[in-house]
Amino acid sequence: YMSSSKQRFLFQRLSPVSGSRYFSELKKCTIIPGDGIGPEISEAVQKIFDAAKVPIEWESVDVTPVRGPDGKFGIPQAAIDSVNKNKIGLKGPLMTPVGKGHRSLNLALRKEFNLYANVRPCRSLEGYKTLYDNVDVITIRENTEGEYSGIEHEIVEGVVQSIKLITEDASMRVAEFAFQYAKDNNRKKVTAVHKANIMRMSDGLFLRCCREMAKKYPDVKFEERYLDTVCLNMVQDPSLYDVLVMPNLYGDILSDMCAGLVGGLGLTPSGNIGINGALFESVHGTAPDIAGQDKANPTALLLSAVMMLRYMNLNDHADKIQHACFDTIKEAKYLTGDLGGKAKCSEFTNEICRKI
Ligand code: NAD
Repeated sequence: YMSSSKQRFLFQRLSPVSGSRYFSELKKCTIIPGDGIGPEISEAVQKIFDAAKVPIEWESVDVTPVRGPDGKFGIPQAAIDSVNKNKIGLKGPLMTPVGKGHRSLNLALRKEFNLYANVRPCRSLEGYKTLYDNVDVITIRENTEGEYSGIEHEIVEGVVQSIKLITEDASMRVAEFAFQYAKDNNRKKVTAVHKANIMRMSDGLFLRCCREMAKKYPDVKFEERYLDTVCLNMVQDPSLYDVLVMPNLYGDILSDMCAGLVGGLGLTPSGNIGINGALFESVHGTAPDIAGQDKANPTALLLSAVMMLRYMNLNDHADKIQHACFDTIKEAKYLTGDLGGKAKCSEFTNEICRKI
């Protein structure tokens, strides 16, 4: 197992572009509790932040969709104003209706605030046994376009077209983010993940942008791999990879696979980083099967909040909370069901608070 001093740096500097310069004075953070297990795990995070005496004030906002002037359902203006003002937020999962109803609010938030890079660290936890104990990868997912551009139409009955949009601008900025992240965090290698053999033009453009950016970072090793190869390698030898950068959909899927390697969705955090702000959220969804039962594992959202603290340069508080959380998992007395334990979300949370 890796030493705890190594773990201390688990979720390091996040943004090469904006970073903490906005936050030297600012201490107010937006919180979107979300749907399903969202309110339970948000409450747990707030409780732990109180115990650690984190010097921030939460501004809780409701994002229940409202009908806009165009007749479509979207995010309430008050929520948008809050994120615009605070420039930083923590977000619980939001339910997305399948097929019909309102569009994904997650997508709307990412678009609204131009949160162009989705950073998902995935690392083996000391003391929690999984197939490998040496997983340490950061997936960086393009967050604004690709198959998620939402451009779909029916050509004729029974034939639907969905547009995968790739632009040079978005590819360049996410590639830059990945290389700068690697440099800032002393990571050795960036792998561009693609299917340019099949999607020659779209993934081809993405790949060319990564190659172009690699030239500006001669100290960071660069390699290119097909998505299918990465999936195969990842489950056979995760030590092959370091920082991975890829178009939107690939990042969505691959990062869940990485989460599976370290213990599941209950553990993996993420940060959506933009030019004017950042929103941190767990990788998992609303977990409707266990919602309202005090069974959810709050770790993923808590570690997302820890990433947020590091983004704000509140590293001492981040360290304190991270250690208390990892120690609780390592002791294994109060594990939630997803990790094979019997503890309730509130019991696990109380134990973390006790350790702070
Ligand atoms: P999910 O991530 O909600 O759940 C998948 C499985 O993992 C379930 O068995 C669930 O119980 C378990 N799980 C997830 N988080 C857990 C936690 N913290 N502790 C313990 N177990 C946990 O995925 P889903 O069921 O496919 O999606 C449900 C809803 O969430 C959908 O409406 C989907 O659109 C939405 N969603 C939202 C986000 C987001 O807000 N960023 C992300 C993914 C899915």
